Amino acid sequence: MSDTPTRSFTPRAFSGIKPSGGLTLGNYLGAIKRFVDWQEAGTHETIYCVVDLHAITVWQDPDMLHAATREVAAGYLASGIDPVKSILFNQSQVPAHVELSWIFSCVARMGWMNRMTQWKEKAGKNAEKESLGLFAYPALMAADILLYHATHVPVGEDQKQHVELTRDIAQKFNHDYKVDFFPETLPVIEGPATRVMNLRDGTKKMSKSGESDMERINMTDDADTIAKKFKKAKTDPAPLPETMEGLKDRPEARNLVDIYAGLAGLSDEQVIAEYAGAGWGRFKPALADLAVAKLGPISAEMARLMADPAEIDRILAHGAEQARAVADPILTRTKEIVGFVQS
Ligand code: ATP
Ligand code: MG
Repeated sequence: MSDTPTRSFTPRAFSGIKPSGGLTLGNYLGAIKRFVDWQEAGTHETIYCVVDLHAITVWQDPDMLHAATREVAAGYLASGIDPVKSILFNQSQVPAHVELSWIFSCVARMGWMNRMTQWKEKAGKNAEKESLGLFAYPALMAADILLYHATHVPVGEDQKQHVELTRDIAQKFNHDYKVDFFPETLPVIEGPATRVMNLRDGTKKMSKSGESDMERINMTDDADTIAKKFKKAKTDPAPLPETMEGLKDRPEARNLVDIYAGLAGLSDEQVIAEYAGAGWGRFKPALADLAVAKLGPISAEMARLMADPAEIDRILAHGAEQARAVADPILTRTKEIVGFVQS
């Protein structure tokens, strides 16, 4: 399949974050920081979402969901997402996501969903007890993206497979209905820190819904907590190597180098060049200082924003109105293509 859509679409980037807990350093480096770069590049329209419909695929206490939705919105805003330059909203305020998701649930095949690594990981042996929504969520994610005819989706590495599935759904829809309506969206996974790992187990992804707070850095952690978590982060005893090759089979060491690179705006190779031969006694405090310098101002701004939830809600409501203006005509046309009678 060609990497370029066959007809031209407005260059548009879409992405989202679930309000399923507090934001982590993984969310910041793998997603939010890059969303800001896309916004500032000015080459694409940028649409960013707090995907609350996705959050309830696993149980969310309603009060916690409310708070987490505002926290994710505050994280976006404090990191530099500007509601004048980007559309920023929460998903449940735009009902078209759910409508298109149903149509895509009828396009996607059970076998496609069964193959999703994240489903296998999250459901594990307990699949029978998981929600139908958790199984079907890639169809909703495809709807989130294609409802805006998004051409690019900046995401962390863990979401690559779901964006590829989005392309499969777009292709099958276009093929079945003999149209050239949905674009073949590209996942964009670039730079360092696109898969930040758990601080206690370098083979697992850092996640906001992970079990222990010590395994992740939260964007709202204070300086002492950040320093403590990096100090206690699992490593091997060897010092940092001279080359990237020397990080092979050292997942925890590699992760800390990668986090440093993401925070400093350097490549992994540049970090290794600077710290070749350094022990953890030198590298970990340097990493903690860098994280505090980058996250400190953002968490202070998040706290300021979260103290005024009415203002956050106002921004989300305005964004939802803008989102509906883009989405509704695309949904209406989709319904026409499918053959629904609309008056
Ligand atoms: P959950 O545990 O509830 O799934 P999460 O931390 O994985 O939460 P998501 O809301 O699923 O966060 O993902 C939001 C965005 O953050 C996605 O683009 C995802 O790829 C990215 N992301 C999540 N975790 C990481 C990570 N550890 N490293 C890099 N990017 C990440
Ligand atoms: Mg996730």
